[in-house]
Amino acid sequence: MKTIKIRNKNKEYSVGKIICLGRNYAEHIKELGNEPSELPVIFLKPASALIYSKHPIEIPAYSQNMHHEIELVLLIGKKLKDANAVEAEEAIIAYGVGLDMTLRDVQDNLKKKGQPWTTAKCFDMSALVSDFLAKEEHKVSPEDWMTLKVNGVVRQREQLNKMIFPPARIVEYISSFMTIEEGDLVFTGTPSGVSKVVKGDKLYGEITNVASFETEII
Ligand code: MG
Repeated sequence: MKTIKIRNKNKEYSVGKIICLGRNYAEHIKELGNEPSELPVIFLKPASALIYSKHPIEIPAYSQNMHHEIELVLLIGKKLKDANAVEAEEAIIAYGVGLDMTLRDVQDNLKKKGQPWTTAKCFDMSALVSDFLAKEEHKVSPEDWMTLKVNGVVRQREQLNKMIFPPARIVEYISSFMTIEEGDLVFTGTPSGVSKVVKGDKLYGEITNVASFETEII
């Protein structure tokens, strides 16, 4: 059972599912040659894929091209279905920053065949998260910056105001077709700058005023 704790709080949340958004930043859509979508592109990761800051990430043997995708992560605090925008906002109780590790070569093959992305996105250690900060302590602002460094060099850096679908809209949309439960995580998509990692790379990610993580590729 994977759990999430909020900084300075005692309660532990059991993670049921990890809901992820694709194509939420215009420049990232362009860099992968994708088309923008009218509605959010949604996929799932299993809770078993979840790891925490300082845990290493192992490249699966069947891929030669694992990419980093840094993302704002939402922790859901209550059960939600068919939520309106206000209910969706209220259900987001904490923020973290995470990595949606992606096997780009595997995903490209799956896309060509029109098959689901499961083997490219759901492998062990493919979802890393920082610790979480309660919304009551800091509500993420569109002005907040998200940065990912590999071996000290900035690879991804963007302001959250570049998100096409903001957090409450994402949660509202997901709840229109799926019950979201307490402890579920929502990965909100990555900005441009995704690129390959190799064994030995050291990754550091942060959202200013929110949280940070570090990890190593093995
Ligand atoms: Mg992603």
